[in-house]
Amino acid sequence: MHIPFDNSYAALPDAFYTRQNPTPVKEPQLIGFNEDLAQLLGIEVDDLEQAAQVFAGNLVPDNAAPLAQLYAGHQFGNYNPQLGDGRAILLGEVIDTKGTRRDIQLKGSGPTPYSRMGDGRAWLGPVLREYVVSEAMHALGIPTTRALAAVTTGEPIFREQGALPGAILTRVARSHLRVGTFQVFAHRGEIEHLKTLTQYAIDRHYPNADGPMGLLRAVCAAQADLIAAWMSVGFIHGVMNTDNCSIAGETIDYGPCAFMDAFHSGRVFSSIDQQGRYAFGNQPNIAVWNMAQLATSLLQQMDEKETAVEEATEIVHAMPTQIEAAWLRRFAPKVGISNPQPDDVELIENLLNLMQADGADFTNTFRALATSDVQDQFTDRAAVNAWAMIWKQRIAHEPDPTACMNTANPAIIPRNHRIEQIIDAAVANDLAPFERLTKALSQPFKETDAELNRPPTQSEIVPATFCGT
Ligand code: AMP
Ligand code: MG
Repeated sequence: MHIPFDNSYAALPDAFYTRQNPTPVKEPQLIGFNEDLAQLLGIEVDDLEQAAQVFAGNLVPDNAAPLAQLYAGHQFGNYNPQLGDGRAILLGEVIDTKGTRRDIQLKGSGPTPYSRMGDGRAWLGPVLREYVVSEAMHALGIPTTRALAAVTTGEPIFREQGALPGAILTRVARSHLRVGTFQVFAHRGEIEHLKTLTQYAIDRHYPNADGPMGLLRAVCAAQADLIAAWMSVGFIHGVMNTDNCSIAGETIDYGPCAFMDAFHSGRVFSSIDQQGRYAFGNQPNIAVWNMAQLATSLLQQMDEKETAVEEATEIVHAMPTQIEAAWLRRFAPKVGISNPQPDDVELIENLLNLMQADGADFTNTFRALATSDVQDQFTDRAAVNAWAMIWKQRIAHEPDPTACMNTANPAIIPRNHRIEQIIDAAVANDLAPFERLTKALSQPFKETDAELNRPPTQSEIVPATFCGT
């Protein structure tokens, strides 16, 4: 197996990471391998047995520079001065066949100096969840880390539920730089490191950005687009802590995340989110809050403090408007509007309000707009009919609303109950449901396997998702 490593993070100061090899496991078995992604990365695999050894951390490939990254972060609003990769190891980076630098990281690969009380491991459930959901997100056209491989380790993992099968995910990211990576140096007052990190992030992700404030502007724009994209598919991240907020603007750290079935803007899945801090409709506010933390950190290195504070404030304060604009860009095509006007916000919000009042299915309601049966998604048909009359007038002069809607409204999303089912099956050594779901989700705008997109029956509903550590 050949991975064309070209490592840059390992050349940064020692304070940024700890060199750490993965801890070998007993009996690696490759259960998922993303050939398309491997190809994009220029990775050649001729021996799947050997690939399993690499993706399990038993075999460190040539030219890898394994390390655990240091970071900090606000978790549910409280600052934790030291987090870091507690169960992940960066093998290194490759420049993909399109010229983009990408991290290759093992997640669940054993303890690191940042593991605190954790075992450095993951069990099969969250590994499959992240594999399925991150690849679905990619297919939906939403920036995300990706899944290259999943292996089982042949070792049990002990969690609240008891002994569970251990697994490792190989994750690919534009980088693993987080808001928390900046916070750790800013809070410690390590200004030289903060400056080095800022320049590294600019060079790697936003080469046109002008200094720390230029970087802030670019990250705010990327996060605004990302949050709007999540909302447009009914996605709830679940743990938008600053350590789970990517500088590259990718969806990262899939934990207790979920796609909504019945729409409600207050929806929360994560069992640990008791206050609803990361509820569906609060995600824009939290993105702004996270960017304010990034701004605070970046400012520590500025000489002209007063003017810089003013500029940073202006940038962060502009973000809600940016999110609203991105929201309209994402939602307008969902109702067949290719050239949105400010008035369209109300039209779309009225539909969402009807959906919320009725408990209508988010994905299926939007998808049904392109056919004639959207009323079937509601119990209060009169209300939705009244809305549809106004809506039809609005789209009467659109060039091709049906095509527009069918490329914006997925026919399938990874529903929670399906994910639970593939995990249960995989624990019982049946990978067929995982493979079937992965395949259907790779073409989410096509009706290839309608049964997989059926909303849950009463007994299938998964009310909460767990942290998955
Ligand atoms: P997360 O909630 O997955 O973003 O993780 C928050 C922090 O806890 C990160 O620093 C993780 O590396 C660490 N962590 C989570 N699970 C484990 C584990 N099983 N062993 C060690 N560290 C962990
Ligand atoms: Mg995390």
